[in-house]
Amino acid sequence: SERLVGKRVLVTAAGQGIGRASAIAMAREGAQVFATDINLENLSSIRSENLENIEIFEMNVTDDTSVAQGVERANPDVLFNCAGFVHHGTILDATDEEWDFAMDLNVRSMMRTTKAVLPGMVERGGGSIINMSSALGSIIGAPNRFVYGVTKAAVVGLTKSVAVDFITKGIRCNCICPGTVDSPSWRDRVEALAQELGSREEAMAQFVARQPMGRVAKAEEIAALVVYLASDESAFTTGHTHIIDGGWSGQ
Ligand code: NAD
Repeated sequence: SERLVGKRVLVTAAGQGIGRASAIAMAREGAQVFATDINLENLSSIRSENLENIEIFEMNVTDDTSVAQGVERANPDVLFNCAGFVHHGTILDATDEEWDFAMDLNVRSMMRTTKAVLPGMVERGGGSIINMSSALGSIIGAPNRFVYGVTKAAVVGLTKSVAVDFITKGIRCNCICPGTVDSPSWRDRVEALAQELGSREEAMAQFVARQPMGRVAKAEEIAALVVYLASDESAFTTGHTHIIDGGWSGQ
């Protein structure tokens, strides 16, 4: 179908997981997609999808120069800020290094990319910015997600601020708040918990139990929400947290 024809879309962290699924879904809807990541090997595997409207290049969201070059190349109408990292532990476990790393990768990266794309969007009189938050953080607390939860709550504040300041310029800014999603890094987290608990089944069961639906999401299910927010179908929503969590926070 053709819900995104005529739109240029820049996706960060498109090498795997939700970013990859979203880049592919948006290309299938006719967008010109610029799929970026720091892992070029994973990014290159997108070529096997045979979508000629996906361009792939390296972009590091923690590097100002890399972001400036990437944004110049993509000149996007839609920005999907997907990059993020999950640290494990309570506030007592958290180190300054973890805090700084997560704040830089999960939050400041969005300031970098958003600052870089806004002038072009303002000039064209429109744009949609989609930020990856999480159900976990500002919507609901979860054990051992201190640093991560702080950063994902900050993403909500960043989103609302940008939405308010640019609403009269035709630019929308929303964030998405998924529950647990099957992705390569999530599988690593399951393995780590399995080591801790001495049982893979128990580790999996704990992650599944967060969602009253009794399962985790597929990345493609989150990508469908990204497509909606990228398209003009979502023209009347801005500044919001779009929760997609299998019922986790909705009880
Ligand atoms: P993932 O964690 O498996 O992959 C992350 C990708 O980010 C990798 O391809 C990696 O190379 C890339 N990356 C890391 N540092 C980067 C940098 N500096 N610049 C550019 N790219 C970089 O993917 P995922 O689990 O789908 O997570 C994607 C986003 O969704 C994250 O922000 C995550 O916090 C969020 N999220 C995930 C879940 C989940 O359960 N998987 C739930 C809610 C939110």
